[in-house]
Amino acid sequence: MSAPRFLPHLPEETLAARQLAGVRRTVDQAMRNPVYRARLAAVGITSGADIASLDDVRRLPFTDVTDLRDGYPLPLLCVPERDVVRVHASSGTTGKRKILAYTRKDVETFALQMARCYELAGLTPEDRVQVAVGYGLWTAGAGFQLGSELFGALTVPVGPGNLDMQLQLLMDLKVTCLGATASMALLLAEEVERHGLRDRLALRKVIFGAEPHSLKMRRAFTEKLGLEAAYDIAGMTEMYGPGTGLNCEVGEGIHYWADLFLVEIIDPATLQPLPAGEVGEMVVTSLCKEAVPLVRYRTHDLTRLIPEPCPCGRAIPRHGHIRGRSDDMVIFRGVNIYPGQIADVLHAFPEAGGEYHIELTRSQGLDHMLLHVERATAAPADLDADLARRISDELHRRIMARIDVRLASPGSLPRTFSKAKRVTDLRLEDGERAG
Ligand code: ADP
Ligand code: ZN
Repeated sequence: MSAPRFLPHLPEETLAARQLAGVRRTVDQAMRNPVYRARLAAVGITSGADIASLDDVRRLPFTDVTDLRDGYPLPLLCVPERDVVRVHASSGTTGKRKILAYTRKDVETFALQMARCYELAGLTPEDRVQVAVGYGLWTAGAGFQLGSELFGALTVPVGPGNLDMQLQLLMDLKVTCLGATASMALLLAEEVERHGLRDRLALRKVIFGAEPHSLKMRRAFTEKLGLEAAYDIAGMTEMYGPGTGLNCEVGEGIHYWADLFLVEIIDPATLQPLPAGEVGEMVVTSLCKEAVPLVRYRTHDLTRLIPEPCPCGRAIPRHGHIRGRSDDMVIFRGVNIYPGQIADVLHAFPEAGGEYHIELTRSQGLDHMLLHVERATAAPADLDADLARRISDELHRRIMARIDVRLASPGSLPRTFSKAKRVTDLRLEDGERAG
């Protein structure tokens, strides 16, 4: 393997010192914004020099998505407006539009973090990357393209949707790597299978992200497309966009760029740090962002740090795959349930497919949860009743909730070009609306 061009080498001995310098730089940068300045002053911090060690990061105040919305249109800006060269806005999965500003250097760092992902996925400049994620205000398309061009691969900027055109270009341009959401990759894979096009593709890798995926979903598109490998890419608009990290070829979890941001895992209820390796909410402090530095930004994403070194041997820290968001949690008859827990249970049933949808209703004061699950392609429909009962029992055993299960035909649940919506909560529409 040739020497890395973009990937960092971050051995423990030197990482802490680099991160400390980055936190100090970030605090100094944040002092340029009145909101940040007032918050930091309230905890006795007036400059980066007040941060003596990485433990002092816990003295810093949290930042949350409300701070970004409150400062609309250019929230938490820490540079003069004339230094801003670009803005992006989030896809608004949780109904919140946030606009983030970038300086020229921020755009360069964005390209670098994505180029690192292509390198970690084992691409070379001979590869051809088709970008099937959203363009425009979203960060996804811009990020996949910037990084691919910096990396030196041929880039095909298609955007999401339009399956016919996607397939045509995949075949005609002999594209080797696809960037897509897991949902979009699945849709394409099903289309390839339906038309028997697998042998006409040169596709070897998919880099997928933007939403939690189940192992079944990943296996489904990997097999249907005949891939060598599929890579889960993490990212968020607040941290430039996609590409904050990627899984490697051997290890569990996601290598992340610890020279660009510091990760803490906290208990979302108490806001206290959790012991190493426990799952909680990821809090991020950026280490070299200029326009909108992040000071202990609450991502609401659930994951854990993986303290063990990766078997691949790279000195790059890891966090787990993102299991969902703390704000996606549903409370059903007093039990907290994350969609990812349901996916975990379904994983144990080979007769079930990877696609599912949760519907919550309420009647006569009682909550009901109905789980729609697709049958696996090979499973016969006449065993549905038995399968539904077994899944329901297992859910009860593992999650302590009584959930009705209904099987659906393969491919019948809604598909999306972007992020899948796993929960429909109709409980307030069932006659219990206030007034
Ligand atoms: P939003 O969707 O909140 O409007 P973004 O478009 O910036 O904002 O999307 C970032 C969010 O998408 C992350 O905070 C995370 O919840 C989710 N996400 C991104 N990549 C992944 C991934 N690989 N796995 C799971 N979730 C992801
Ligand atoms: Zn690794």
